[in-house]
Amino acid sequence: MAATNINILKNLNVPDKDKFSAVLTFVKSFGEVDASNKSSILTRIRGIPLLDTLDRMLTDEQWLDETSGEDIGTCSRFLHDIKTYLIEEENILLDRPGTSMDGMSNNQQRRNTCQQYAKMTVPNTWINVENIQIWPLIILKTSAPIKRPLNKTKPQAMRSIVEKILEDTAVDAGGIIEIEEGHSSIKIKCDSIASRTRILRFLTPKLPRWTLTIPPLRDPLIMIKNVSIDPSKELALNNWLAKLIARNGWQNPDNKIRITYWFKKPNGIDLLLSIPPVIREKIERRNGSINLGYRLAQAIDYFDIKFCTTCCSYGHSTTKCALISKCGYCSEVHGKTCPVKNDPTRHRCPNCFKQGENAFDKKCQVYQTKLRHEMEKTNFNYKFIMA
Ligand SMILES: [Zn+2]
Ligand SMILES: [Zn+2]
Ligand SMILES: [Zn+2]
Repeated sequence: MAATNINILKNLNVPDKDKFSAVLTFVKSFGEVDASNKSSILTRIRGIPLLDTLDRMLTDEQWLDETSGEDIGTCSRFLHDIKTYLIEEENILLDRPGTSMDGMSNNQQRRNTCQQYAKMTVPNTWINVENIQIWPLIILKTSAPIKRPLNKTKPQAMRSIVEKILEDTAVDAGGIIEIEEGHSSIKIKCDSIASRTRILRFLTPKLPRWTLTIPPLRDPLIMIKNVSIDPSKELALNNWLAKLIARNGWQNPDNKIRITYWFKKPNGIDLLLSIPPVIREKIERRNGSINLGYRLAQAIDYFDIKFCTTCCSYGHSTTKCALISKCGYCSEVHGKTCPVKNDPTRHRCPNCFKQGENAFDKKCQVYQTKLRHEMEKTNFNYKFIMA
């Protein structure tokens, strides 16, 4: 095998074209990163800007144009698997109290530096949702009439009944975080799956005409935009999916990767893919990039949150809006141009009424509540929303 000289990456006079080709040869000589070869890869790339170069390659239009889908896939897998390995290594280091860079070996310091680099490369469009806590749920419904005072809604009365049962018992029924009222039902948020089992067993016999259920979870959904296939041919969709799975190195033993919906767009279609949690995890580790063969696409997490761009409220789509049009920046009703659009301090959100925020702000409390409800229905523990 020809020697792969990745030392040329340090040389500023070598053109990118040659560097990229050296990196590709190097990456292909290893193939998949795994437990057996990761240490030797790290030793080989010590002091060499291999990850930076890979990053540049994978965003270089010309390189992407000239490279086969298989090679692009190999490179993007290699980059993200190495980064993941470095993150795991750092977590081990951080668990040790009193670790500082001073006390580290060269090897540890290098890993630490690479790790910081890996952290910084989360795409800046992604939304961090680590602050949104998702708890195991029980949904309580009943069609039986509930005695209630006139000023209380049915869910409010249901909630009082459950609270009374829990208050009156001396049994430790399990940890409850909160009881939340819905439109016609209530939801108990439990502090763990184990608590949920206990609470369910405790409450079910005490509420005979109610139904207590654990809501089913669906697999995460992602959207891929501007895919050029002819959706009128069902075979075209199936072929496309099979190639996508193979090219990205996804495992699909139970055929859980499915196209659930597609929208026609001028340049092809946008489609929704239902994927198992492990695949969602894998895509996140690759910074959301998906290999479409002729190009890399960004996966976008999809949630069924309807937002109307006419009245700027949630719950219906623009085509079904029966309300007066309202400005998403200042909450006022005015003509086409908003007088304060370019002055964020004078924005006012029409949904949460917060000053300095607008209807498109993902930090909006109303949006975050909608998002939490959708996340609760999904079989994935989101740290980031790929947006
Ligand atoms: Zn509307
Ligand atoms: Zn306005
Ligand atoms: Zn808001």
